[in-house]
Amino acid sequence: MPLPTKGRVLIAGGAGFIGSHLCDRYIGRGWEVICVDNFHTGNKANIRHLLTHPNFELVRHDIVEPYMAEVDLILNFACPASPVHYQSNPIKTMKTSVLGTMNLLGLAKRVGARLTHASTSEVYGDPLQHPQTEAYWGNVNPIGPRSCYDEGKRAAETLCYDYSRQHGVEVRLVRIFNTYGPRMAIDDGRVVSNFIVQALQNEDITIYGDGSQTRSFCYCDDLVEGIIALSEQDETLGPINCGNANEFTVAELAERVIRLTGSRSRIVQKPLPQDDPKVRRPDLSLAQKYLNYQPKVELEEGLKKTIDYFRTALANSR
Ligand code: NAD
Ligand code: UDP
Repeated sequence: MPLPTKGRVLIAGGAGFIGSHLCDRYIGRGWEVICVDNFHTGNKANIRHLLTHPNFELVRHDIVEPYMAEVDLILNFACPASPVHYQSNPIKTMKTSVLGTMNLLGLAKRVGARLTHASTSEVYGDPLQHPQTEAYWGNVNPIGPRSCYDEGKRAAETLCYDYSRQHGVEVRLVRIFNTYGPRMAIDDGRVVSNFIVQALQNEDITIYGDGSQTRSFCYCDDLVEGIIALSEQDETLGPINCGNANEFTVAELAERVIRLTGSRSRIVQKPLPQDDPKVRRPDLSLAQKYLNYQPKVELEEGLKKTIDYFRTALANSR
């Protein structure tokens, strides 16, 4: 069924980094937004400017428990995404991915809503195919420290397509590659925010391993365009990669952050975490073909905006 042009959307994880940008975009488009979040890694500051908006509603709720509301669209962005956070309570991470997604799929079934699920490049694990196409089944350790996230997300993907086949729920599934930008938490722990926060405070920049591992970094505004385009796509599609295909080593990222901040930080090496993927780059052909998706923000420009954000966030946190 086509989506209404102005409907009601439930955004789970709406107080988080990506979720809060989605809240902004849907409010801007005239939708009613129900933001559901348990504030595990989310922050009220990310959505404070929306709290008095007549079309915005904030609900403190954990998606591991069922939630009911009449909505047209559900965006499932509730899940800690940083290894530091998702490993702090791995069983809860698995519950959020599996039970949480099942609850939202159950709601979608009940009220006839479409559901867009935030999956991840981590379903490809430490990939043996490069770049990664959606057809690649991945190389994931099922019992390691990253498994609660990777396998939780893989199980959530299974649930999405089983609800689609068994109950006719309209699902859209985006596999997100490393995305960064304003509203990441200061203590998020992922590489872009860590390096910027360290550089701005002239603290040591912590490269895990020798820094030769690669990631492809996407600015949040580009990703959000892709998510909206996918959610509005009336044709049911398989999983779609979204991100930016420009690939950098972690060492290159550190150098750039130091240059752009004018920091006096030194680079230090820390042990490489277990199962840390060595390479990561999306094949974006399907996103280009079906969504006309084309990321526009180069790393340099995105880093500058993110650095400005963290400068203010750090000043406000003192
Ligand atoms: P984030 O940690 O900033 O946001 C996650 C949000 O979900 C937070 O507001 C948190 O409080 C909320 N949440 C967590 N568990 C919940 C629960 N059980 N019930 C209700 N709310 C809960 O992370 P993010 O980067 O904004 O990621 C958002 C989504 O996108 C996640 O599903 C993540 O797996 C996915 N993703 C993000 C990236 C990325 O690079 N940012 C990459 C791949 C996938
Ligand atoms: N990383 C790093 N220093 C940090 C944080 C992360 O060198 O302070 C590395 C990490 O080991 C990985 C890459 O940067 O190789 C990306 O890590 P992140 O946690 O951002 O995302 P993911 O590994 O989930 O892609």
